[in-house]
Amino acid sequence: MKQVYNFNAGPCILPRVAVEKTAQALLDLNGSGMSLIEISHRSKDFEAINSECIALWKELLSIPDGYHVLFLGGGASLQFCMLPYNLLGAKAAYVESGSWAKKAIKEAKLFGEVAVIASSSDKNYSYYPAIADIPRDADYLHITTNNTIYGTELHGSIDSPVPLVADMSSDIMSRPIDVSKYGVIYGGAQKNVGPAGVAFVIVKEALLGKVKRAIPTMLDYRTHIAEKSLFNTPPVFAVYAMCETLKWIKAQGGLQAIAALNRKKADTLYGYLDNESKMFVGTADKASRSLMNICFVMTEQYKDKEEEFLNVAKAAGMVGIKGHRSVGGFRASTYNALPLSGVQALVECMREFEKKF
Ligand SMILES: *Cc1c(COP(=O)(O)O)cnc(C)c1O
Repeated sequence: MKQVYNFNAGPCILPRVAVEKTAQALLDLNGSGMSLIEISHRSKDFEAINSECIALWKELLSIPDGYHVLFLGGGASLQFCMLPYNLLGAKAAYVESGSWAKKAIKEAKLFGEVAVIASSSDKNYSYYPAIADIPRDADYLHITTNNTIYGTELHGSIDSPVPLVADMSSDIMSRPIDVSKYGVIYGGAQKNVGPAGVAFVIVKEALLGKVKRAIPTMLDYRTHIAEKSLFNTPPVFAVYAMCETLKWIKAQGGLQAIAALNRKKADTLYGYLDNESKMFVGTADKASRSLMNICFVMTEQYKDKEEEFLNVAKAAGMVGIKGHRSVGGFRASTYNALPLSGVQALVECMREFEKKF
């Protein structure tokens, strides 16, 4: 197979072993003579996969009692509306830290009053806004812990007087978190824990059943809690691949070990940008920089060389480093499965390019 370094922002690189195991299960699941995508989702085989996946979520994140782990369709984007459907009675507070947060705010407004209590829109979301004065009459506070597009991440924890809800699509399982500080954590799997097609929701059961509105059965978290995410036909392929990805995380030593590796990768690239490069410069405020999505551009003097560098990097096997159109330049996503050698290869490629000028 061609050797590449996959810096895609999502869908993104997954552990090779998880991809291989999934490929095998697609051909023949557990010697059953049938493909993973041909078996009944009510079969013992699939129920075992579903249960194992839930158990791995609980183990890796040390999820306390009183919380449920759900696997749902519709991506993180469906959660933008499913969440307020279930939790927003009159008012909710939101932090506007990027494009995904804006989308979540738009949906929440369909259900009640939305107080945007912090925003970094004034500087094109290049920093994580300070969160203060959380209104006590809000049903919850919604944050996006990692802003995939702008390369900013919330560092440190928030003590919220109201239930804290987080879109963790792009930094879930990248480090240990204290789940007990949250009411709901959700995200699309395709940034760090699996392929597209499944969203994860970790929800504290005590928060449910408080809103007065009727909730359609499929959009009611309680339906999926009662049915262990098997109310309707689940995305079996995506759940299987997610399960294999979590097994790999566990085999690496769990989230402490994963976090240390992620830190090392980010330090390698940010270190080069901060201390060595005269040509490339990071776009995010230093205190808010993401360990998952590293955004950088060329300085004014070299701006016209961006296209050329993209071509050189591509020839060297770097995939997916073109920046999102809202930031420009480059974005290297350094999710869990990207090895340190990938970041080192990118830095080497940048260094070589700089030498030419
Ligand atoms: C990618 C992303 C989403 C959207 O996820 P979908 O599963 O495609 O709906 C939402 N929030 C964040 C932070 C993301 O990175």
